[in-house]
Amino acid sequence: MKFFSFRFLIKLLVFFISLSLLLLLVFGISYYTIDRIQKKNNLMDIEEYSPISTLVVPQNPKTRSKFPFIDVHSHHWNMPIMNLDNLIEEMDSLNMKYQINLSGSGLAVFSGKQDLMDLNLSKSINNIKKNYPERFGVFVNLDLSKIGRKDFKLNTEKYLLNASKIGATGLKIYKNLGLNLKDGEGNRVKVDDDRLQFIWEKCAELNLPVLIHSGEPIAFFQNIDKYNERWLHAKQRPSSFRPSDKYPSFEIVMSEQYNMFKKNPKTTFINAHMGWYGNNLSKLDQQLIDLPNVYVEFGAVINELGRQPVSARKFFIKHQDRILFGKDNYNKEEYYLYFQVLETSDEYIEYFRKRHGLWRLYGLNLPDSVLKKVYHQNALKIFPSINSNLFK
Ligand SMILES: [Zn+2]
Repeated sequence: MKFFSFRFLIKLLVFFISLSLLLLLVFGISYYTIDRIQKKNNLMDIEEYSPISTLVVPQNPKTRSKFPFIDVHSHHWNMPIMNLDNLIEEMDSLNMKYQINLSGSGLAVFSGKQDLMDLNLSKSINNIKKNYPERFGVFVNLDLSKIGRKDFKLNTEKYLLNASKIGATGLKIYKNLGLNLKDGEGNRVKVDDDRLQFIWEKCAELNLPVLIHSGEPIAFFQNIDKYNERWLHAKQRPSSFRPSDKYPSFEIVMSEQYNMFKKNPKTTFINAHMGWYGNNLSKLDQQLIDLPNVYVEFGAVINELGRQPVSARKFFIKHQDRILFGKDNYNKEEYYLYFQVLETSDEYIEYFRKRHGLWRLYGLNLPDSVLKKVYHQNALKIFPSINSNLFK
């Protein structure tokens, strides 16, 4: 048989190489043609469109806050082994006197091993105590996935007590509660689930404030189409969205959270990201009136405040005793914009994260007395272990 003779193989090879070259040529021409047509018709992607503003107005960028501040919403997953020197240097340059690491129990929070999480927590606290005892606070995290189990209550109470004893300053509840977390029977665990009630009571007893993130921005629950305000976010981070066939609605999750706050008036709660009502301040206003045990922080929602400077300023003045400074995702340069929006009356400020909103921000020009409360005085009330002399 001569089917696989040398000459035959060469012919085959030449055939495939020619075919590939031909395909490459066809694709190249198509690509070039489409590109030409798009350019001719002035078509481009939202991501590509980056207009440079021609507006000439005063800009007063900041690299340091006007008054010393406490950031109550940060994440450092590797705190047990972290060299804190660089971080302290950056904090000093920003005028940040104190920072709360909400992920004190480290990455183990997703592995569902409370013992490992507790080890991370004690190591995080030891690292701080040894190096900068007055500059950091650490929150404990809980593995809630064992919710249906008999020993869940007893163990969780034990972990909370131990965390408080070794120096954790609060409890952080992640957004998986109410969205992804399932009990042993596969049912979604609601934010106001009765089986978690003892946790909120225990935190009140131990004077541990609870910072809780529930839900997502409302646009993440809506259809992803040309009307969605966060369409670009859906394109860049599709997994952030919460389609209705897999998740409860925004309203359901938020009403569960509200019920839980209402049921626990003795527990101090910090509603993270302004409870995702930064775009609906009249709703948040009503919530703060109804719930005197609840504070808010504005991590990752400065873009909502800066697009409505008149309403936001009114809100900050009215609720000046209930708002804390939070940033989320530690990044030194990103704080600058927070200072500019809170302190100045600058207009048309460019925001650093396009997928959070395709709009510009405006300064709130907050009075000094309000700035001081938001920057540190309110947090000092909730966290008496922070040395207030740092802020004099
Ligand atoms: Zn966060």
